[in-house]
Amino acid sequence: MTNVFENKEIFKEEYQRRIIEHYGRSIDQAHITEKFMILGEMIRDHASIHWYESKNAIQEGQEKQMYYFSMEFLMGRLLTNNLMNMGVYDVVNQGLSELSINIHELEDIETDAGLGNGGLGRLAACFLDSLASLQYPGHGNCIRYEYGLFKQKIENKEQVEVPDCWMRLGNVWEIRKPKHAVDVKFGGHVNMWMDASGKTKVEHIPSFVVRAMPYDMPIVGAGAKLTNTLRLWSSEVADDACNAINLNDYVNEVHEICRNVYPDDSTEHGKILRLKQQYFFVAAGLNSIIASHLKAYGTLDNFAEKVAIQLNDTHPVLCIPELMRLLMDEYQYEWDDAWTIVKDTFAYTNHTVMNEALEKWQMQYVQELLPRIYMIIEEIDRRFRYRITHQYGREDLIEKCAILQHGQVHMANLAIIGSHSINGVAALHTEILKDDVMKHFYAICPQKFNNKTNGITHRRWLLNANPQLSSLLKKTIGGKFVKEPLNLIELMKYVDNKKIQTNFLEIKLERKKILAAYIKKTMNIEVDVTSIFDIQSKRLHAYKRQLLSILNILDLYFHMKEDPNFRIYPRTIIFAAKAAPSYIFAKEVIKLIHYVADMVNHDTEIADYMKIIFLPNYGVSMAELLTTAADVSEQISTAGKEGSGTSNMKFMMNGAITCGTYDGANVEIVERVGFDNAVIFGLRREEVMHLKNENLYHASDVYKNDVAIHRVIDGLIHGIFPVDFRIIFNELLNKNDEYMVMADFHAYQEAFFKIEEYYKDRMRWARMCLVNIAQSGFFSSDRTIEQYVEDIWHIHKIQM
Ligand SMILES: *Cc1c(COP(=O)(O)O)cnc(C)c1O
Repeated sequence: MTNVFENKEIFKEEYQRRIIEHYGRSIDQAHITEKFMILGEMIRDHASIHWYESKNAIQEGQEKQMYYFSMEFLMGRLLTNNLMNMGVYDVVNQGLSELSINIHELEDIETDAGLGNGGLGRLAACFLDSLASLQYPGHGNCIRYEYGLFKQKIENKEQVEVPDCWMRLGNVWEIRKPKHAVDVKFGGHVNMWMDASGKTKVEHIPSFVVRAMPYDMPIVGAGAKLTNTLRLWSSEVADDACNAINLNDYVNEVHEICRNVYPDDSTEHGKILRLKQQYFFVAAGLNSIIASHLKAYGTLDNFAEKVAIQLNDTHPVLCIPELMRLLMDEYQYEWDDAWTIVKDTFAYTNHTVMNEALEKWQMQYVQELLPRIYMIIEEIDRRFRYRITHQYGREDLIEKCAILQHGQVHMANLAIIGSHSINGVAALHTEILKDDVMKHFYAICPQKFNNKTNGITHRRWLLNANPQLSSLLKKTIGGKFVKEPLNLIELMKYVDNKKIQTNFLEIKLERKKILAAYIKKTMNIEVDVTSIFDIQSKRLHAYKRQLLSILNILDLYFHMKEDPNFRIYPRTIIFAAKAAPSYIFAKEVIKLIHYVADMVNHDTEIADYMKIIFLPNYGVSMAELLTTAADVSEQISTAGKEGSGTSNMKFMMNGAITCGTYDGANVEIVERVGFDNAVIFGLRREEVMHLKNENLYHASDVYKNDVAIHRVIDGLIHGIFPVDFRIIFNELLNKNDEYMVMADFHAYQEAFFKIEEYYKDRMRWARMCLVNIAQSGFFSSDRTIEQYVEDIWHIHKIQM
């Protein structure tokens, strides 16, 4: 097969030929979107060759494969990533340039595939990149959402959500696979009877059938040796679409399933829709895995030897009863044999200790929508209750660990009971699972628990996003870190080298200029690139405490206004965050940030010292701009609340200093860089717990007695802004400041000043940043994946 990327001449010829063939136009006449689509197509076709070879190699070696089931894959853009991983970026860049096409313009045409909310979805995307790059057979399974999470606009200083039509140009990376389509059944009733041999037979008569259509996206590993698959399921009408009473209703109901990421689940309709989504992609995914397994082996007896499935949070946990159903109802396995296969197949990752995020479903919803699945869950629950009483002698734990309780299905409990492994996503987080959130399970099955500290792919977040820094690193320590990110540690030899320090500062300045140009272009605001770029970019959530930062800014502003001798070192404080559409508090914080920004940025006395920027529509591509340009990485969650965080790792790897609490993976960052090379502040988890458990924290007393705090909190409701922020005020005072914002207020301000003190000593600052880069190799998702492989999946590299 010819390689169209072999050299730029062959590439140019093929590229021109395809444009003419497709669009009947010359390159000069072609529209930029056409130029993008054709390049994408060429890459996809090229990937297909690797796909074919990869599938053959896996088949021949009868290799075990891993499937990552996740409701979210926050892929971002793929053009650069694919070209880089295929090793043809330079050829394409030169070829295009000789055709007078700027590759960056094509890169910018691509819309982010925003098939997810935030960290959890981005983790899944980083894992796919690491799996393929390390040559492990590991695939993704998800929904092909017609719209991503909403697009965020700001109108009158408030968040407005508009649809994110990420597929407006189509999705150039995907291939529709009708031959692998699967029917998924909902509703109806279950018939059971005894056959002649006395075996129980079960038949589910659905009231609603949906055709699940797979679209496959190639996941190209670095060096393009192995190409894995991200399979996205789309819902379509089924052939014998049951006796739909109203055809229109049926078609709507079908399309609704794949319309949106996380449709609003504040209503009953929204909740049932989400449950439908979960079962839809789980049932379709399992069905197609079973079909291909049977084709290869002719039996399911060795299923767990050849298939590992990782459940990313509780969203895909219906996998557990669904595989039981398939094994028993369709392949005649006995319960115990089926259960062994199920437990050996599944492993579950917990992402959060926030109580409201531990998913529960109304029993009644599950029963009506998935009658057979519900029966199986009941039986799993019944047997578990028996085991915990008779095998473990811990009847006292039933209340805590049972799946069915108080009219609800507890998905995390189902996940733990049906999996052989449960992992947290950072050392501290796993400890919290073991001694708090899941301690009852830890008491009866400690061997299931393990930690897998999250990671990020250094290919996207360092090599591709920051070519300037990557090139400095290659010149300084050689290119070994490209394949082995732990090798970044070699940079420790150069952290005191004045020339490298200076080079680093020059590169950081260049990255800041790129971000400044973006801010100018999108917001028409000039920022001072010599100021400290202090960035907090992440989903907006009370526990992440964007509020702490904005209240500190407000206090410093008041202070500068009343005392002309008090001035801070110039700082550009940048926020980027989406709030869930129904999360009122979060939206109020966005509004507050805008009101404070408006006041500060337009105050000519202050504007030279402080500028506040809220960049709308945070996503992966924006994160690439932000993490590479930051001086300071804000990671200021209430201690004990953040699972891991991964943006902290992206910032660190690009030489930003963490200003953070002792929480999530921040703990492991300081463990590596030391307390001198990060600014850690605030209450520790034990202290937060102590204050809460002993009822020692009284927000209203702090408000009454602390002059500075009193002033900023009062500012929320008294006359500083044309609107009042009573919702935030009440959250702090009527709910006893659940996230300890006031408790950490002064410590945070001290951290703020520490940062400026360090920053002013430019060489010392550069040294700190270099230490962070040098120590960041551990946080490559390549390391995380190796740990999952070793402890949980037991898959092998594909030799090709
Ligand atoms: C990395 C990333 C996240 C996760 O950010 P945290 O600060 O770890 O919560 C969320 N969204 C996007 C787009 C990201 O790239």
